[in-house]
Amino acid sequence: MDCVIKPRRLRTSIILLTIQFFVIWLVIISCENQDGPLSDRDRIEGRVDSVLALMTIEEKIGQMSQVRHFDDISSEEDVATKFIGSVIHTDGPTPGSTATDWQAKFIRLQNQALSTRLAIPLLLGVDAVHGQNTFEGATIFPHNIGMGATGNAVLVKEAAAITAIEVQATGLNWTFSPCIAIPYNEKWGRVYESYSESTELTQKLVRASINGHQGNLADRSTVLATAKHFVGDGSTDFGKEGGETSINLEEVSKRLLPPYRDAVNAGVGAVMASFNNLSGVAMHAHKTLITDTLKVGMGFEGIVLTDWKGYSRFGKKDIINAGVDMVMAVDGDLDFFQSDIINQIDSGNVSLERINDAVKRILRQKFRLGLFENPFPDATLISKIGSETHRNKARQAVRESLVLLKHENNVLPIDKNTKKIVVVGEHANNSGLQSGGWTMRWQGVKESYAGATTILDGVKKISSSEVIYDQNATGNHTDADVVIIVVGETPYAEFMGDIGEKDGAYQLKLSETHQGYINKYAGKGPEIVVVLVSGRPLVVNEQLEQSDAFIAAWLPGSEGDGIAEVLFGDYNFKGKLPHSWPNSIQDFEGKYGPNFWDNSIEPLYKYGYGLSN
Ligand code: BGC
Repeated sequence: MDCVIKPRRLRTSIILLTIQFFVIWLVIISCENQDGPLSDRDRIEGRVDSVLALMTIEEKIGQMSQVRHFDDISSEEDVATKFIGSVIHTDGPTPGSTATDWQAKFIRLQNQALSTRLAIPLLLGVDAVHGQNTFEGATIFPHNIGMGATGNAVLVKEAAAITAIEVQATGLNWTFSPCIAIPYNEKWGRVYESYSESTELTQKLVRASINGHQGNLADRSTVLATAKHFVGDGSTDFGKEGGETSINLEEVSKRLLPPYRDAVNAGVGAVMASFNNLSGVAMHAHKTLITDTLKVGMGFEGIVLTDWKGYSRFGKKDIINAGVDMVMAVDGDLDFFQSDIINQIDSGNVSLERINDAVKRILRQKFRLGLFENPFPDATLISKIGSETHRNKARQAVRESLVLLKHENNVLPIDKNTKKIVVVGEHANNSGLQSGGWTMRWQGVKESYAGATTILDGVKKISSSEVIYDQNATGNHTDADVVIIVVGETPYAEFMGDIGEKDGAYQLKLSETHQGYINKYAGKGPEIVVVLVSGRPLVVNEQLEQSDAFIAAWLPGSEGDGIAEVLFGDYNFKGKLPHSWPNSIQDFEGKYGPNFWDNSIEPLYKYGYGLSN
């Protein structure tokens, strides 16, 4: 009987226990209230301040310096002796042929940084602009123009998260992506790096991209993202890379700044300054836009990074005073930057306060990324590079990016049992050509690369037809039922891809050779399906006339076979034009192309156009 608790005593004990808990809780709350409970942000700020307080001026300048792992440093030890804050991999010698080699290289460099007095880890950056496109074997997504055509923010986020995993798997932790330009002229050689001529669509996809890349930043499968190039990169006169952007500040604010505001709100870690001038002032030195607008106005707390060799190119100390925090000190700029900036500080031209602000911003991102706790890459991620799951997602992106511009005579979907199909064009069977610039190399490659599939692979896989590949349209196959003709641009990137440069390497229309491929078969009997592989809309009125179906496939990346899945009807066309489609080359004679919103030029197809079959 003794062990039986009477209901009255039970009630009393419960009341007493509740009071006890309440008192303990009150004590905890009041203790916390004395200093306030620390948020993650406060904790990071506290750590940033305590590291900054210990730093010498040389260590601070070192943090502000970014170099390549080759050429800019003479040995790996330079990372330690020059207190380097960030290392990048870009075009040039790769750290090895396997991801294990890459990780080993970046672990060695990280160890150099960690061997310094304050053991501040490195940010390791790369231009992973459509997948980890510097590593052969990675999953390569369609370039942003294709992602713009999908209009699918969930997909953009998933693609960015996959890119982050594959970047981390190759030992790096920072990407210089997304490019959030709003192109004003198709002559610009970087149109494909940005999503759309529409500010609103760009805003939607920018948020998705940053959330996807950065996720929960502190885990080792996410990376720091960079919104670039601030600002006006895509709206230079005549589409010239690094040229003069002569639009006024009101227009800049209305059309170009909103995606940056979204990027900042999404917590983007970095913003890269642009090569262009804005109304005569180099953007790198544009204090009103960098400091007053981006940092103060929008509340950006991350790193403003220069573009290539920005310090010596764009005004030296003036760019630091304008608000640049980290210098891409490449091609001979490292020693120059490090000595010049010390002189500028000594002579009072750059304040220590500005330097401290720059370094705080860099340290803040390193803490956010969790680099002080986990400075090294995760070896278990290596098996995810180019995995089936990742490729399936990229193939989905390819399918959703296809824009059907013309469809007549019910040629689509192509019957899988068609007797004879001819596939024409070198772009049909070459993953390098189908991927554009920033793929394997800076300006892209003209050969296929490992792990990718082509459009021809897809056609062969999906159909039970006799499939003939007539690469240069030299065969005699007018007896075919269907001819799939793949035409387009050869890969290019910044500067080289601008139209209007002296050598005329690129034009706003198809080459004579590619026009010839279509001439060879059009009107001769077979049904004509044209697939255009290009980084921008081209003037193709005549070729549209000649074809039964015409598809803008942009630059699909490694999963070229996904195109056949739509041509043969496993999926329907979903893509919508992210740019208005030009009607004539003359429309581009002026400063801005048909995408300029003065409505003086009527496009052939409006922004948002796209058929389904
Ligand atoms: C480009 C940037 C790129 C950087 C590093 C520059 O030339 O303009 O977009 O991030 O190179 O490779």
